[in-house]
Amino acid sequence: MGTTPSGGFDPETVKKDFPLLQRRTRDDQPLVYLDSAATAQKPLQVLDAERDFYLTRNGAAHRGAHQLAEAATETYESARETVAGFIGGAPDELVFTKNATEAVNLVAYAMGNTAYAGSESAHLRLAPGDEILVTEMEHHANLVPWQQLSQRTGATLRWIPLTADGRLDDTAVDRLLNKRTRLVALTHQSNVLGTVNPVASIAARAHAVGALVLVDAAQSVAHQRVDVTALGADFLVFSAHKMLGPLGIGALWGRRELLDAMPPFLTGGSMIEHVTMERTTFLPPPQRFEPGVPPAPQAAGFAAAVHYLRALGMDAVQAHEEHLTRTALDQLAQIPEVTVIGPTTTEDRGATVSFTLDGVHPHDVGDVLDDLGIAVRTGHHCARPICDRYNIPATTRASFYLYNTEDDITALSDGIRAALHRYA
Ligand code: PLP
Repeated sequence: MGTTPSGGFDPETVKKDFPLLQRRTRDDQPLVYLDSAATAQKPLQVLDAERDFYLTRNGAAHRGAHQLAEAATETYESARETVAGFIGGAPDELVFTKNATEAVNLVAYAMGNTAYAGSESAHLRLAPGDEILVTEMEHHANLVPWQQLSQRTGATLRWIPLTADGRLDDTAVDRLLNKRTRLVALTHQSNVLGTVNPVASIAARAHAVGALVLVDAAQSVAHQRVDVTALGADFLVFSAHKMLGPLGIGALWGRRELLDAMPPFLTGGSMIEHVTMERTTFLPPPQRFEPGVPPAPQAAGFAAAVHYLRALGMDAVQAHEEHLTRTALDQLAQIPEVTVIGPTTTEDRGATVSFTLDGVHPHDVGDVLDDLGIAVRTGHHCARPICDRYNIPATTRASFYLYNTEDDITALSDGIRAALHRYA
């Protein structure tokens, strides 16, 4: 039971790789994990890759001449190659960061830095009158750094508004883009609405006015093929933990000449070329942006996650999720009290479904579901302006991934009916 023929793999078999999904909840219920948009569960292959590092190669990468340090360096750099290749980038264009949030902040810092002696970065710097264009559906990670940067530099923040059905208002894009636009920072897939944005089309129009494009791919790299060239990205950010990998590591991909021109963000050991008591020169990217002993075990886990996704095939992952999304939208449509916040068809949308329930606060929905062993997220999901746009206090969000089944969705629908029974 629970196979989805459209997906090309059996999610029940896939689920066996995920030890946590075999556990029962506090009330001895089978766990139905529908919160992968917050963080995905980890397969044994990822856990083993990290453990294997500590068991066999634990050393400080890029420091030390001994065999363990060399093996650690090899692991770390080979992970960089794997992760960069997964998004169609070159290894020297991929900077390991703590997560997607840090990657956005790194770029925002560079664009606000007024003096960098190391290379010519003047064309990246923002000035009063410049504009940054975001969207009304951004995660706070791709909004707050740009608000702060605008305040620091005197640039103006603008945003592409949302339509009633949770898509970007495309008619506003050309009106908002102009010669003053220096950066368009937008999400590939909304973590609340599930909407997949037409990034390539917007990027082409942004480039036509001379703007750079930063793509927040935190919610897309895990779920569909992502290629930086096809998207027209200048920068792309993502986190390992949302794509089966470890917490604590993410990535910034940037076009080589942009990274070359950028000042260091965090500074210290491992990113320097030469240091005297007065001054320091810095290594080229990506090392310039990676101070401190690198997180090699996490990088090994990150690479293992990429290998896992590749083995299943991103087209199969996407097809499976589309099937689950269609099933969920169909089942939710049978419950009149449910209003889906976001697109109600599977076209250009991913497997994240947010909804409200008449007469029941999302937090109460979450509690009832949790009692039934169903893990969802409730609240504003770090994208508060979306709630303002649709005039709602919060939503309940169910997000599906490669280990979810039709049975999980039926459990969700039954749980929603139970919440209605208890509260409405
Ligand atoms: N962007 C989007 C669309 C997200 O969903 C998230 C996390 O939920 C982030 C950025 C930030 O990711 P992290 O918290 O791993 O830095």
